[in-house]
Amino acid sequence: MDQHSMSTQPGEIKDPVCGMTIDAKQAIANSLTTEHEGTTYYFCGRGCKLEFSDDPGHYLDPSHRPSM
Ligand SMILES: [Zn+2]
Repeated sequence: MDQHSMSTQPGEIKDPVCGMTIDAKQAIANSLTTEHEGTTYYFCGRGCKLEFSDDPGHYLDPSHRPSM
């Protein structure tokens, strides 16, 4: 498994909670997506999804800096 491939693939997207780059297709396959105000967001894991669902406004605030 090569998880450090530098090639950017279409469908790569950022997790708004932790800022990690994730594969949208994988997130969809794992049900790690949520819809907020008509936009679909993708997450690296269940924890980030739950945190976002708790307080979407906090993570969408432009002053929020994603951190691991
Ligand atoms: Zn995350």
